[in-house]
Amino acid sequence: MTANSLETNLIQALGLSESVLKNRSGSQVRVPYAEKDGRLVHVSTVERGLKCHAVCPVCTTPVVARKGDKTRHHFAHYPGANCSAETVLHFIAKQLIYEKLQTAVALKQVMPVEWKCIACSGRHHMNLLENVSQVTLEKKLGQCRPDICLLDTNDQARALIEIVVSHRPDRKIIDYCNQHNIPLIIFRIVNAEALEKIGRSPNLNPSLVLYCLRDRCPDCGGPLFEKRLFIIASSCWRCGAPMQLAAMEINQTLHGITHFSAADRLIAREKGVIFREHFNKKSHRRELAVACPSCGVVTGNRFAGFQKRITLKRIGICRGKICLNCWTHLDEPV
Ligand SMILES: [Zn+2]
Ligand SMILES: [Zn+2]
Ligand SMILES: [Zn+2]
Ligand SMILES: [Zn+2]
Repeated sequence: MTANSLETNLIQALGLSESVLKNRSGSQVRVPYAEKDGRLVHVSTVERGLKCHAVCPVCTTPVVARKGDKTRHHFAHYPGANCSAETVLHFIAKQLIYEKLQTAVALKQVMPVEWKCIACSGRHHMNLLENVSQVTLEKKLGQCRPDICLLDTNDQARALIEIVVSHRPDRKIIDYCNQHNIPLIIFRIVNAEALEKIGRSPNLNPSLVLYCLRDRCPDCGGPLFEKRLFIIASSCWRCGAPMQLAAMEINQTLHGITHFSAADRLIAREKGVIFREHFNKKSHRRELAVACPSCGVVTGNRFAGFQKRITLKRIGICRGKICLNCWTHLDEPV
């Protein structure tokens, strides 16, 4: 994936657009958490009004616990407070996630996370705390300073966590994760409700995880997919004589013989598929096609009825892996 397409994907996946970047003033900061005796407390656990004895964790001025009937309970700044909603949301989300992870590490618990991968479109899941022994806040890592860092016993970063309110994640942090082949877990926090969700849920539900669990292509770094060769008994569209067709199933899609490796073609030939070079009028190129053993006419790479028959049978020959980005084959030894 190029840097530009990743950037576009990120902005779409996180719902970020320039119009969101409005700064709300301090008096409009309404969050369900504040700081008391050095810890974050939920508004439900304190007395109403100034008796809550809590402060804003960012600007450290006293806040009021508003616990009326009309609006969702929250802590409010005094009018004119010089504090930004964005900073407060970011700070509290970071603190809540940090505390959750710290507790889980101390109790040696697992932290399962699941995500839809933007590199391969598949769903992945992993235990975020696998081999993690330490959680740090704002630790300097090379050129960057991620919000939260998960470290192993050798002080090596195993995953980085970023809280995104209105700014896209720092490019340097994305680069660090790519270079070290570790996941970047992103939480998009848009409002106070998002904070409530983090506080309530025993698990972590990230907005986006930049990490693909598939093997990487040695040539371009793209995700590798398993490929399966299918040989289907068919008949010639012109003379009706029996003939064998071949196709490759990759990531639940059928591909024609144009993307076969030499080894794939060899196996197909052994199974009775006949290949012949012909001139493709559409692409104006000479290319390989499957031919009828009787009359020699070629069958294009269209598979009318083919997909259906394969779905019925579902037996293919496993042929190794392929990169859909640069079409590099990693064939299994025969
Ligand atoms: Zn404040
Ligand atoms: Zn993936
Ligand atoms: Zn590749
Ligand atoms: Zn024929």
